[in-house]
Amino acid sequence: MSLHATILTIFPEIFPGFLGTSLTGKALKEGLWSLKAVNIRDYAFDKHGSVDDTPCGGGAGMIMRPDVLGAAIEHNHHGGKIIYMSPKGMPLTQAKVHELSKADELTIICGRFEGIDERVLEEYDIEEISIGDYVLTGGEQAAMIMLDAIVRLLPGVLGNAASTENESFEQNLLEYPQYTRPIEWKGRKVPEILLSGHHENVAKWQRQQALQITQKRRPDLLRKNT
Ligand code: SAM
Repeated sequence: MSLHATILTIFPEIFPGFLGTSLTGKALKEGLWSLKAVNIRDYAFDKHGSVDDTPCGGGAGMIMRPDVLGAAIEHNHHGGKIIYMSPKGMPLTQAKVHELSKADELTIICGRFEGIDERVLEEYDIEEISIGDYVLTGGEQAAMIMLDAIVRLLPGVLGNAASTENESFEQNLLEYPQYTRPIEWKGRKVPEILLSGHHENVAKWQRQQALQITQKRRPDLLRKNT
């Protein structure tokens, strides 16, 4: 079983982009996941490849047309969830990433301009996902970030399966501070406890540090544990 992602975009040349390098790129080559970037313009009804029009009711910018985008969806969606990357969507969380990493198929719509016609979202029961409280120029960057987070959780992608266990967000905690050699650098020493070889005490210290840093930076995460 492997994940197949279909991306609907007016810039298919952006893909696989950084997803073609490092762990995600290796996994792509090994067939642990696959990707098809579809040009929405190929489904336009005129010879100019028009995909957008002015907003009804006035306002700035352009909106992606439902008929063109609908045709692109109908020709390319062969099952699984359809996701629209959108600042208005529900926030992408590690829990959501875990859920999506279990899918066989995902179809991801990348918006441009001022977004897409609302009726498309209703017609195809599309889930809207945001990667954060800021506005990007397009959904491609957001789709790539979401896919990066999903792909690293696919079986066989990370060398050591245990390596995600203590990562930030896994237990509604941020990760504890990490150190490596040299043991002393610019007068700063690695905390003594980490050199003690006492696994139980190290684990206790790491948990305490994770709690402290989460309390300071993201108390909202701790509230999820209660
Ligand atoms: N007018 C829209 C609004 O105010 O919500 C913003 C449109 S934005 C300029 C163009 C496209 O970028 C969106 O259709 C969406 O696909 C993508 N995008 C922008 N910010 C995003 C975010 N935070 N998360 C996911 N996608 C985003």
